[in-house]
Order: sequence, then C-alpha cells, then structure tokens
Amino acid sequence: MFKTLSMKNTLYLLVLMISFSSFAQQKLALKDVDQNKLLKDIVYTHTNNEDITLIYWFPITYWEVLSAKEPKTFTPEVVSQLKQMLGNKSIFIAISGKVSNTTHSFQTKGETYLRNNISVSFGGKSYKPIAESQLSSELTMLSDYIKPMFAQMLGDMGAGMSLFYFEITDNSGENALNPYNSTDFTAGLASVKNTFHLPLPSLFTDSKCANDGELFPANYEFCPYHGSKLITQ
Ligand SMILES: [Zn+2]
Repeated sequence: MFKTLSMKNTLYLLVLMISFSSFAQQKLALKDVDQNKLLKDIVYTHTNNEDITLIYWFPITYWEVLSAKEPKTFTPEVVSQLKQMLGNKSIFIAISGKVSNTTHSFQTKGETYLRNNISVSFGGKSYKPIAESQLSSELTMLSDYIKPMFAQMLGDMGAGMSLFYFEITDNSGENALNPYNSTDFTAGLASVKNTFHLPLPSLFTDSKCANDGELFPANYEFCPYHGSKLITQ
C-alpha cells in the first residue's frame, strides 16, 4: 500500500515537472506585451444563436501593461491607486443578452441576473461576487468609470456590462488569481463556463518551430503542423 502511494507521488511530481518544463518561455517586459493578445487571453466569448455572453477577467497586470505602454495617459500612480483600492480582490466583467438578428440591437439580461449567475471556481471551491453593500464607495464608483469605456468599445452590448469583485485568496490572504501562476480557474455565467489557463501565454515570449521559425503562443509545446517540439526563446 505504501509502495503504491509513493509511486503515485513520484508520478505526480513527474507530471508537475513536465508541465513546468513545457512552459520555460521568458517573461516579457510589461511594455512588450501585445495588448490585443492579452485581451484575447482574458476575455471569453460564447455565442449560441442570438444569445451572447462575454466574461472578462481583468488582472492588475492588464492595467500595468496599459501603463507601461502609455505612462502619460495611464500613469503609474493611477495603477498603484487601483492596486490599493483593490487589495486582494479580482475584477470580473460580464455581459449577457440577445442580439436581434433583424435589428442587431442588444437586449441585456441585466445586472441582477448577471450577479445571481456569475461564479468563479478555484482550487475546488466555488465563489460568488462580493455583495455591493460590502464594497468601499471607491470600488462601487470604479464600475461607473469603466462602463463608458465598454460602451465606446462595444456599443449597446458594452453598456450592458456589469462589474463584479471576487475575493479569492491563498493561505496568506493574497489574491490567488495571478496571471503568472500556473493554477487554472474557471469563470462561469449560468451554464456558460470557461477555464482560464494560466499562466497567460501573452505575457511570455512565443514558442518557435525549429523547422520554419513560425511562432506559437507560449503554452504550445509542439508545432501543430510538424509535430516537433517547439523551442523556447
Ligand atoms: Zn512547425
């Protein structure tokens, strides 16, 4: 019995080592991160006929990247204020509704629906957003600042967004959802679920195919065309 257990442990360690070694790419400097790739990594879009659901996870790294790229419009001070306001909380934004096939107008399911149906699973536990009454006035206001940005970006759909805060922490009380960590988590809205695979590949240098030099996201281990192991750079 002990033998089986220790063999299981060894196997587990091996799997861990393999999964670590497959992600040996270099961490990119924040200013070198491709903002569009990062956005792709943090948003999940689900469509089903007229129904559309978007779930965004905005780790602090996202704002740090913005600031590193445009320090004049988004100053480091703003980022540190944001960090202070947030503490160990995570920001999620949800949009859900119907896009009419004929008029293309968007009918949102509304904040109450979004709040009642959004959840995040991490480490085998399911979390609900922090109730609005538990939030600081600063955090309540943050949503009002971000909403116009979404409305500009996505029109009616963006205006139907709701922002939620989650407190998902590790043993030392720090925010456990870290885009550089390797523990995945799942965010869902009702039956729509998405696993965010970490670390986010956009924060690392691409993997390269030894045959033709084609670049792939950092979490690709093998070339999908040649089947050969990709090289880290
Ligand atoms: Zn290849």
